[in-house]
Amino acid sequence: MAERSLRGMSIGAKSLESDDNVDFAARRDVTYVCPQGHKTILPLAADVDAPESWECRCGKIAHREDTEEQEESDDLAKPQRTHWDMLMERRTTQELAALLEKRLDMHKEGWIPDYE
Ligand SMILES: [Zn+2]
Repeated sequence: MAERSLRGMSIGAKSLESDDNVDFAARRDVTYVCPQGHKTILPLAADVDAPESWECRCGKIAHREDTEEQEESDDLAKPQRTHWDMLMERRTTQELAALLEKRLDMHKEGWIPDYE
């Protein structure tokens, strides 16, 4: 897919080189199809990664029309990294325990109001 090559590029970086070939309002339409056959067309900025799925107006999950079968099964086998996964990659459990301890102390001492 041509869109894939845009991944990771930013308009800001390109504009430094040349304004001539840059369309600042570049948009593309991404089509999502739900199991019921409804089509949802999302106008997205060209430099934004389209989500793999979108909630259809009927409430079902619509999948991106240009998504290849293989890619979908990959996603099922390999769940997306969560914030938790990323946190665990950056901090050891020991560090997290220390952070939690500190945070709890701050709550106890009234530095941070309870959220609920
Ligand atoms: Zn639908």
